[in-house]
Amino acid sequence: MARRSIDIAFTKAKVAVFIDGCFWHGCPEHGTQPRANADWWAVKLRRNMVRDAETDDLLSLASWRVLRFWEHEDTQSVADRICSVVQAPVNPDTARKA
Ligand SMILES: [Zn+2]
Repeated sequence: MARRSIDIAFTKAKVAVFIDGCFWHGCPEHGTQPRANADWWAVKLRRNMVRDAETDDLLSLASWRVLRFWEHEDTQSVADRICSVVQAPVNPDTARKA
């Protein structure tokens, strides 16, 4: 399996945060398709996005909450959203084991 890394992991709260690069992850606002070697890039970038979805699924199955942000998003609002999720009450079963 290709290497998958979580950008920020809150292990106790089981919250995984990813900051996705606009180019590499196909941002709807800034994602571009290079003209040189267009076919190769199309496959490569699509594969990244499929892998992102798979990663989300795997984490969800392991009861993690997944947060994804684009690299172009405002840092403060990203931080606020992460805090609100990490500090949100988790379901009682998870909380007891934590
Ligand atoms: Zn972007």
